[in-house]
Amino acid sequence: VTTRRPLIAGNWKMNLDHLQSIAFVQKLAWSLKDAKHDYQTVEAAIFPPFTDLRSVQTLLDADKLELELGAQDLSDNDSGAFTGDISGAFLAKLDVKYVIVGHSERRTIHHESDEIVASKVAAAHRNGLVPVICVGETADDLEKHGPSAVPVAQLKAALETVPADAEIVVAYEPVWAIGSGQAATPEQAEQVCAALRETLAEKLGADQASATRVLYGGSVKAANIATFMREPNVDGALVGGASLDTNEFASIVRYQN
Ligand code: PEP
Repeated sequence: VTTRRPLIAGNWKMNLDHLQSIAFVQKLAWSLKDAKHDYQTVEAAIFPPFTDLRSVQTLLDADKLELELGAQDLSDNDSGAFTGDISGAFLAKLDVKYVIVGHSERRTIHHESDEIVASKVAAAHRNGLVPVICVGETADDLEKHGPSAVPVAQLKAALETVPADAEIVVAYEPVWAIGSGQAATPEQAEQVCAALRETLAEKLGADQASATRVLYGGSVKAANIATFMREPNVDGALVGGASLDTNEFASIVRYQN
């Protein structure tokens, strides 16, 4: 039996400037330290806006905090005439470990196609970053195609560029559950996460499928996290709104207590 280390990832989206991020991370670290959180048991990562990364990285370094750092997006190019874009190479220089790729807000607002998402996954690996590949269906997709079809198709497209044995994290985020307060049921999350793991097995082989963490995201909070974590194919959560409150996020990270 493979034991996957659970990952709780906080996606701040476009919230908290660099000064606010410093106060926030200090407070979060105190909450976790006070609660004697064991980072070996459950990994915790935060995904601040680009402009906060340097400040947060300095703080994590200086205080030897075990929170991992992630970014919310990256360019599929490494350098050049791409005004406004951020290179994976720059993120790697800041000790960023994870990068979210294909979040539904980027697919919708910035019209990111499956091809762009695959190309960003390749850019992440080229620069030594672990992509957190987001997939998920809209309410309309769910009605028309059932629960797994769209997330599975999105994952297949994103895996086109994944080299054998490269680490990835997959996040199943039903669009109708994001920021809506209406989370999927644990059974719904399990059904799709299991289908995504089957897709991983088909594309990357059984070993990598059983080693890869598949997260659920969409209105996760302290009050419902434990119900998701009881499901065999849910290995953690991608948390939006509830990651902006230090006590709430610390309680989610400490869902076992
Ligand atoms: C997200 O956007 O990744 C997310 C899961 O948001 P929320 O937790 O606010 O639903």
